[in-house]
Amino acid sequence: KPKAIIIGAGIAGIASAIRLAIKGYQVDVFEANSKAGGKLGEIKTNGFRFDAGPSLFTMPQYVDELFKLAGKDPEDYFKYIKLKEICRYFYEDGLRLNATADLDKFARDIEEKTHSTAAEVQRYLKKSETIYDVTHRVFLERSLHKLKSYLHWDTLKSIFRFGQIDAFRTQAMANQAFFKDGRITQLFNRYATYNGSDPYQAPATLNVIPHFEYHFGAFIPKDGMYGIVSALVKLAEELAIRFHYSQKVEEILYTDAGKPKTKGVKVNDKIYKADIVISNLDIWFTYKNLLKGIAEPKKLLTQERSSSALIFYWGMDSNYSELGLHNIFFTEDYQKEFNAIWKDKTVSSDPTVYINISSKHIRTDAPAHAENWFVMINVPANTGQNWDQLIKEAKVNIIKKISRILNRNIEKDIICEQILDPRTIESKTGSYQGALYGNSSNNQFSAFLRHSNFSSKVKNLYFCGGSVHPGGGIPLALLSAKIIDDDIRLVV
Ligand code: FAD
Repeated sequence: KPKAIIIGAGIAGIASAIRLAIKGYQVDVFEANSKAGGKLGEIKTNGFRFDAGPSLFTMPQYVDELFKLAGKDPEDYFKYIKLKEICRYFYEDGLRLNATADLDKFARDIEEKTHSTAAEVQRYLKKSETIYDVTHRVFLERSLHKLKSYLHWDTLKSIFRFGQIDAFRTQAMANQAFFKDGRITQLFNRYATYNGSDPYQAPATLNVIPHFEYHFGAFIPKDGMYGIVSALVKLAEELAIRFHYSQKVEEILYTDAGKPKTKGVKVNDKIYKADIVISNLDIWFTYKNLLKGIAEPKKLLTQERSSSALIFYWGMDSNYSELGLHNIFFTEDYQKEFNAIWKDKTVSSDPTVYINISSKHIRTDAPAHAENWFVMINVPANTGQNWDQLIKEAKVNIIKKISRILNRNIEKDIICEQILDPRTIESKTGSYQGALYGNSSNNQFSAFLRHSNFSSKVKNLYFCGGSVHPGGGIPLALLSAKIIDDDIRLVV
């Protein structure tokens, strides 16, 4: 059998491994950590279980597809439910909105409680659908770096409709024009943060993101987000894929006669041979640490990184009936918050706070009468800020904000705490500067300034994951594995 080596057992690395095993390769996955998952990790402490990274699950069909490709029934491995309530929104002025999967209900709620109308919401979501229709085949599902992608009729049709993707004004500008009520503009501006960007700089094309959530739906895996990893690793092991944990790859090896071609990798000074190598690492570290002697694509690697996150994992000794699975507590001044992150590279004193409580659905994630709070704010990527000080200040501001809005002292309920910040995101998952989603999407050309899924310098070397095309987040990371799969010759 031909051999493939995957570096990193992040979600895209596991998906690539499964796809190659199905193609007939003998696949070995080398992972620096002692467990699979990368950013999609989990924390267990004091009777609480937390998903460490992603908490919102969209496009589950991309996970199901992997089981189907292997000839299995996804239901036998991986169960999830569609959420009826997507997110609860809390504003400082007392406004509370409930984004339900029933869009008419959500739009009516907005009309009843704000100056915006249900028709505005419907027009906005229609626009979101149009942007999806025009962009998904070109920007998400195919390589942007192969001529053959542009020779598809549907790609050409999309290119003729590019005027509709709203690339020449910012998302915040577009949304302000859509909604009479600033609080609804704010609600939809938040989608820029789904790929770590700034709505006041990013193109309005990012208004495609709500389509994923409101049209395809938001989901929760029955075993939590880490359940995605466990189910895929189980499938991978059944396909005879070998996982080598706590094995950090030191170098990608290639032939030097003629056009370089991958030969394998070096781990702990030992050489492992392979016909194909796929790196699931952050592309920045792939070039800096593993690809010795290959010129770096400087322009791509020096793009601005996406934002990072500061997360408090709090075991809460109480139940909060006002809260749901996903909750947002908005800042009073969104532009000021984004200026703090992007211009001053610091943490806002009034940050928008996201609280995810998986125990609302998965009772075993917290002891009885308790809840597991994943409390996250957006912060800049790590460029050497004084994080210890910023974390201390942020904790005080977050506790004050939630207590104020819920009119209840939340601090006394915190019985255990763990913290993840940009420094530890970088050290634990190998993400340069702790960025959650690779490069930011703060300009119209971002899609073209992400690294391709293959190397133009080393034959049979591929790149998958959130730092390369088509971008960050679980669905896009899974699509990167699919694009590589489409490019690799069928072996059996
Ligand atoms: P990564 O998760 O980046 O994994 C890379 C792997 O490579 C790691 O396991 C690492 O240990 C390993 N590695 C590194 N160096 C080496 C080496 N030299 N040798 C061997 N192995 C190595 N996405 C969503 O869809 N929804 C969300 O709600 C969401 N929220 C997020 C919240 C947070 C706090 C974070 C951190 C991310 C969030 N994301 C979310 C983004 C999502 O987690 C990522 O886009 C996705 O998991 C990236 O997967 P990946 O395949 O790029 O691999």
